[in-house]
Amino acid sequence: MIEARGLRKSFGGNEVLKGIDVQISRGEVVVVIGPSGSGKSTFLRCLNRLEEPSGGQIIFEGSDICAKGANINLLRQKMGMVFQQFNLFNHLTVLENIVIGPKLVKKCSQEEAEQEAMKLLERIGLADKAQEYPSRLSGGQKQRIAIVRALAMNPDVMLFDEPTSALDPEMVGEVLGVMKDLAGEGITMVVVTHEMGFAQKVGTRVLFMDEGQILEQGAPQKLFTSPQHPRTQDFLSKVL
Ligand code: ATP
Ligand code: MG
Repeated sequence: MIEARGLRKSFGGNEVLKGIDVQISRGEVVVVIGPSGSGKSTFLRCLNRLEEPSGGQIIFEGSDICAKGANINLLRQKMGMVFQQFNLFNHLTVLENIVIGPKLVKKCSQEEAEQEAMKLLERIGLADKAQEYPSRLSGGQKQRIAIVRALAMNPDVMLFDEPTSALDPEMVGEVLGVMKDLAGEGITMVVVTHEMGFAQKVGTRVLFMDEGQILEQGAPQKLFTSPQHPRTQDFLSKVL
């Protein structure tokens, strides 16, 4: 469903992605781990063209999204993204945050968009917060809202960039719980995270990135218990 071929990205003279080759199939939960600065966020951001790749190809649902004339708006509808810092619109209520995308981009009616939004809020137990502003929510609540805001667009893939890193420890579980439920429903996910428990329990595959390359990948059990590459071993010995 997503395939990167020789994906490269440089910022000035700094080559951050040095040829990434990976295929992600429908329904997979791919967890990306690796040291700070290894290019995990840049990789994720290239997938939905928040960054412009410097070379290579990204094939998504059969078309090259780096090609001239690629429909980036359609691509972004199909790939929901959740960021470390939530990125909610603070001047809008929770409900307005969720309906704005479906209304503006998908041309849903107000009524239809609100009905969908309320269903999503009920699913995460936050229906009573529909009229609140984000500033009055906890970090965990904000992040769960950010997740359902992305889901409201009915994406084919969800990209998560360290969705729990900005949270107080007691709120991490509630966000991971929502992500685990999503994975259980079979939505394709690419998740950059330092939550190794989540990677092991929910991931179908783990990619270890270092210095702009995928050094090693495999099933979570295998990669965590018997990493092959010395740098994977070193990284895991620090985080497990
Ligand atoms: P972390 O775990 O700290 O989030 P990461 O693996 O996500 O790290 P990236 O954010 O992808 O790493 O950054 C990889 C490298 O690219 C870093 O050296 C960073 O300084 C550089 N970089 C990222 N974004 C930009 C940018 N917009 N302009 C210039 N350099 C950038
Ligand atoms: Mg990052």
